[in-house]
Amino acid sequence: MGYVVATDGNVSFRRRDGIIVTTRSGVRKESVKERDLVAVAPTGSVDPGQGKPSTEIGMHLFVYRERPDVHAVVHAHPLYATAFAAARLALDQPLLPEVIVTIGRIPLAAYATPSTPEVARSLAPFVHETDAILLTNHGVVTFGTTLEEAFHRMERVEHVARVTFLARMLGGEKPLTKSELKRLRAVSEHSYGVRIRHNVGGGQRKARKASRRT
Ligand SMILES: [Zn+2]
Repeated sequence: MGYVVATDGNVSFRRRDGIIVTTRSGVRKESVKERDLVAVAPTGSVDPGQGKPSTEIGMHLFVYRERPDVHAVVHAHPLYATAFAAARLALDQPLLPEVIVTIGRIPLAAYATPSTPEVARSLAPFVHETDAILLTNHGVVTFGTTLEEAFHRMERVEHVARVTFLARMLGGEKPLTKSELKRLRAVSEHSYGVRIRHNVGGGQRKARKASRRT
């Protein structure tokens, strides 16, 4: 779907026994075979002979540690969402009802050097508040209870990024008003039992404060 180029991106899931299975480093994601999967302990240790896990395994392990409900993590560089991340713009306006209900706001984590522990630290202000985060000048990470759910969230992030980009060419996006949001929240909670999260803005402020300190 054009969400990665070359061997970029990585995917993992957590088995019921707590072992995390991830894509091997340096493999093209369209041609992943069983032999390209590596089993990693929650501590990050890998049995020898399996090959090298994804270079972003530290970010995946961090999400699993912080979120016991999460069983799959997807990291990619989809074009439009990555353009927003490169322009250092969050997608945190309440714009599309389906995205508000399924993900909430999509915050922008502070810049972190890829493949280093900085990436996990940059997610810390948001990891409990959302399931989709833009990585500054890098890409997107999404998570879910299943691989499918995590991937659907990646698709939605890219969709809202494309829509926002196009809306800006048409004079600018018009986010839902407070009362429209209130009605959406009432309908979602009543009809689908979905609680809409509104507190991502708090994480955004925390991240800005944290990045000013460093
Ligand atoms: Zn990446």
